[in-house]
Amino acid sequence: MEASTFVLFGATGDLAKRKIYPALYNLYVDGKFSTPFSVIGLGRRELSNETFRAQVLQSLHSFSRRAALDSLQLQAFLQGFEYSVLDVGHPEDYTKLLKHVREREALLGLPENRMFYLSVGPEFFEPIAANIQASGLGDTLGWKRLIIEKPFGRDLKSARALNTSLTEAFKEEEIFRIDHYLGKPMVQNLEVLKYSNPVLRALWQNRYIANVQITASETVGVEERAGYYDKSGALRDMFQNHMLQLLMMTAMQLPKGSTPEEVRSKKKHVVKSLRPLIKEDVALNVVRGQYTPGEVEGRAVAGYTSEPGIDRSSQTETFIAARLWIDDPLWNEVPIYIRTGKRMKQKSTRIVIEFKEPFNDSHNKNKGDHTPNLLIIEISPDEAITLQLNTKDPQQHGELTSVHANYQSGSSSDVPEAYENLIFDALRGDATFFAHWDEVELSWQWVQPILEASEEGLLPLQAYRSGSHGPDGSAALLGGTEWWLDSED
Ligand code: NAD
Repeated sequence: MEASTFVLFGATGDLAKRKIYPALYNLYVDGKFSTPFSVIGLGRRELSNETFRAQVLQSLHSFSRRAALDSLQLQAFLQGFEYSVLDVGHPEDYTKLLKHVREREALLGLPENRMFYLSVGPEFFEPIAANIQASGLGDTLGWKRLIIEKPFGRDLKSARALNTSLTEAFKEEEIFRIDHYLGKPMVQNLEVLKYSNPVLRALWQNRYIANVQITASETVGVEERAGYYDKSGALRDMFQNHMLQLLMMTAMQLPKGSTPEEVRSKKKHVVKSLRPLIKEDVALNVVRGQYTPGEVEGRAVAGYTSEPGIDRSSQTETFIAARLWIDDPLWNEVPIYIRTGKRMKQKSTRIVIEFKEPFNDSHNKNKGDHTPNLLIIEISPDEAITLQLNTKDPQQHGELTSVHANYQSGSSSDVPEAYENLIFDALRGDATFFAHWDEVELSWQWVQPILEASEEGLLPLQAYRSGSHGPDGSAALLGGTEWWLDSED
């Protein structure tokens, strides 16, 4: 990997502390971060380099996946960090920043490769990109790249406007849109799982798959993010980005050794093939919910509209479920069920593939006495792949029972975190696991009728008890089957 300067906007923020510094440190310890390196943290407050480094160190103690930190390594790592004051709206601060970046490049003998990481609120994305361009920070002899956090717009129109403005300063191939679900090891494993297992590859199509279920359920409520969340809701916060990215990763089929361009082209094909929703029909395929008081993990919790910072009459959804169809020969007539919500019974992100019942006819004497074969891919908090099979139970006079062939990944401190994978890839210029504009635009396009139906009152909010599996309408969406694994929680 070529050496570079890492310019971090929002260096005093929550994301930087919880995710970005630990990711940089773990890459450094793993020898994946080229040395020497220069990280320039930016914030509005005046901070000395020493105070800034102390904050970075504190974040490593609190959030690094490595419990034991080597003090020599730490000192060497922290020397790479310097701080500059910058107010996003002050052009003169960018000129000072350019001077600082150049001084560090000269001192450390770094090539002019510059990574700009925007870990700030979305209202700052456009002015920062424009100022990088106007100040000359973006005129480099090496490469320049932009890592941008979510949310990328709040509807189709605003996402398009944001993209138009960003592409005045950065080319598409220089923009790395973070969707941290794409950095999760089990999500990155999905493609490998399909192409390296001929059995799965052969079965990955509508002839054998009855339905696909993608769940991301959280036990937490809005916590400290009330102000943001109440204006956003589950559709914008989770569904348009993370859930549709999980769907793309699940449905695409690619041979081994595919290039980033091939991966993204297949993902685009999936989202482009989604059967469009008509606003008037949205309620037949989508369920919106909001949590009421209940009990989660043995603790009584308040309802959404009683949470601090939430409007008492808020109509924001904290749960969304949808039935989707991919109009493509491989997936034709396979329903895809997606749901995500807060204050649910269980914390789990998983993909369940339900296979078809091949003996589903009147001659089948075993019909109805066994459960379908399921492939369960657990993404978080645990990582596991389970194949549910039926077998004869010798202790129960040969009745059928379900058994699980199971792979569980190693301990979590050994597994790189999503932000490590993503920052490493961005520094290498590998965009495979970042969202291309085409994917983002097509996702917003699919979601837009849901936004409109919600605003026009065509998709009433359904209440669900905290600690449940979501509103009743979510189960009804599935027609003949069930959300697998809910009953075992
Ligand atoms: P935060 O509010 O904790 O931090 C924001 C940072 O922006 C701070 O360093 C602040 O000093 C800086 N800032 C604010 N106004 C500024 C100005 N005028 N000039 C210069 N700097 C200014 O936010 P966060 O939680 O760290 O989130 C950062 C971004 O990451 C947001 O886009 C958010 O949506 C996204 N994100 C955050 C999380 C998370 O877990 N925190 C998860 C996913 C995405």
